[in-house]
Amino acid sequence: MTNTLAHRRELCFWGWGYTDQGLTPEEETHVARLASGLGAEHKPGPAPRLEEFDLAAPRIAAPDNLSPILSCTPYDRITHGYGKSFGDLVRMQMREMPNPPDWVAFPRNEEDIAALMEFAASSGAALIPFGGGTSVCGGVEPDVGGDYGAVISVDLQYLNRVLEVDKTSRAALIEGGALGPELEADLKPHNLTLRHYPQSFEFSTLGGWIATRAGGHFASNYTHVDDFVESVRMLTPAGVMVSRRLPGSGAGPSPDRMMIGSEGTLGFITRAWMRLQDRPRFRASASVSFPGMEQAWSAVRAISQAALFPSNCRLLDPAEAMMNGVGDGDTALLVLAFESADHPLQAWMARALELAGDHGGSWDQAAVDRSLSGSDSADEDGEHRQGAAGQWRNQFLRAPYYRNYLTPAGVIVDTFETSITWDRFEDLYQGVRERVGRSLKEVTGTDCMLSCRFTHIYPDGPAPYFTFYAMGSREGDMASMLSRWREIKLAANEAVVGLGGTVTHHHAVGRDHRPGGYDDQAPPLFRRAFAGARRELDPTGMMNPGVLVDTPDRRATARGVLVD
Ligand SMILES: Cc1cc2nc3c(=O)[nH]c(=O)nc-3n(C[C@H](O)[C@H](O)[C@H](O)COP(=O)(O)OP(=O)(O)OC[C@H]3O[C@@H](n4cnc5c(N)ncnc54)[C@H](O)[C@@H]3O)c2cc1C
Repeated sequence: MTNTLAHRRELCFWGWGYTDQGLTPEEETHVARLASGLGAEHKPGPAPRLEEFDLAAPRIAAPDNLSPILSCTPYDRITHGYGKSFGDLVRMQMREMPNPPDWVAFPRNEEDIAALMEFAASSGAALIPFGGGTSVCGGVEPDVGGDYGAVISVDLQYLNRVLEVDKTSRAALIEGGALGPELEADLKPHNLTLRHYPQSFEFSTLGGWIATRAGGHFASNYTHVDDFVESVRMLTPAGVMVSRRLPGSGAGPSPDRMMIGSEGTLGFITRAWMRLQDRPRFRASASVSFPGMEQAWSAVRAISQAALFPSNCRLLDPAEAMMNGVGDGDTALLVLAFESADHPLQAWMARALELAGDHGGSWDQAAVDRSLSGSDSADEDGEHRQGAAGQWRNQFLRAPYYRNYLTPAGVIVDTFETSITWDRFEDLYQGVRERVGRSLKEVTGTDCMLSCRFTHIYPDGPAPYFTFYAMGSREGDMASMLSRWREIKLAANEAVVGLGGTVTHHHAVGRDHRPGGYDDQAPPLFRRAFAGARRELDPTGMMNPGVLVDTPDRRATARGVLVD
């Protein structure tokens, strides 16, 4: 057993999943074929080992009052040194971590967090809130720059309980460090659910979701975590901020809106009252084929504007459908689903299919009838197991594990996502394919795969999500692959923002989405106003420096006094 203060099952520090999880032999054959199809010439070598990392010693000593909750074991420092972006996985393969956290803290309660803040103020250390560490944008990386005396990654895994359930209002008070499966298990006896399922559900936390404005995989209506937040409790260096529990409020700018999406730069989200839902009883799904992308997105626009609110309306463009083994390269596929805790769904499904048919869609009516009658069973998260929808879903859940093999094989596999109004969707879709496709080809010098699906839909536009595969280095040279990936990442930021979209619909900003992205997208005056609010809450700039906005140049003295 690895030496750690963590209480959870041991994570695979260099990849996705737990250490005791891996690819099945069939999956290994599948990804090996994919890698060699892209031109990979070698098989991945042995997995990284902790002792291969040359970590600098912690720059400060742990004070007596905090030593029971501070760890500097290699496992704890390395698992908290990166998130889970493609670039993070490559650097793990390189066995390089120039900026590990000096210490990893495992607070047991809010008092511990307050004590950590006091210590950070007096020692000039930076603090990084750490939920599940699944950030894909450099949100948890201790590369804080400036003149911080040390960095402490603060893992909230001991704050993981559902504290109270209000069945009358259908809400629950949940601690920020609870993983998706932990909080759902606590809600299940009440027959309630948060019903928020990001792809990273198993490994990410409530506090992380709120801090990053995460998107669950349901396509419409309640889908961003913002929709579920009733009130938030945040510990900031200036004190505690708690918003009032209300179903809605018009009382000035919303305190929740300030804390949601703050990405650890203002304080720690220690608990939140979350709106819940009854567990769904009725479910129905359909797979609809379209002869081309234009017909398909026109159908999705019609469905999104008909106030039907499908739980899934996942449009796969022809490239995405083919890559997932459910298309021929010309056909676009729409995975459509509805669910309800209250009423049967025939009318909703029939109307959505009618709209799809108006735009050239075709489907297997017998399969739809089976799903409406309940004979096609669905999992807890509402996804169906059978047919094209089921096949796509299996790929979706397993894809992050495939990267554990593909990355050391020298294959760049990554995603980026955005949202755009319908009137500009076609320009963005074609423009991204053209610009990012060109960058992929120029940077890697090989043929690449770039595909798109809709993760979410709104009456005024979709959230397109792009996936690309490219040969990063035939010889498995990780350093070259990293610099190629960085170039492509910048091209993707610039393309989506330049074409009028957002740099992220739900993956957060962190450090990686600032250049060419958030720094151009957010109004300059807003960024100044946010930085001002941040100075008020965090006068010494200890909270997650470098994420979202610059921390004003600071020189922390031994006593923690800010010198501008
Ligand atoms: C394979 C994969 C699939 C993914 N799928 C999705 C998806 O479907 N939808 C989606 O939205 N995202 C997805 N993500 C991105 C990521 O899972 C989300 O950003 C998630 O919300 C992060 O939660 P976390 O608990 O892991 O937070 P972390 O990664 O630990 O932290 C993320 C940010 O939030 C801050 N933070 C964390 N906890 C707190 C807290 N309690 N208080 C204050 N700040 C805090 C951190 O400082 C950091 O800036 C995916 C990532 C991967 C690797």
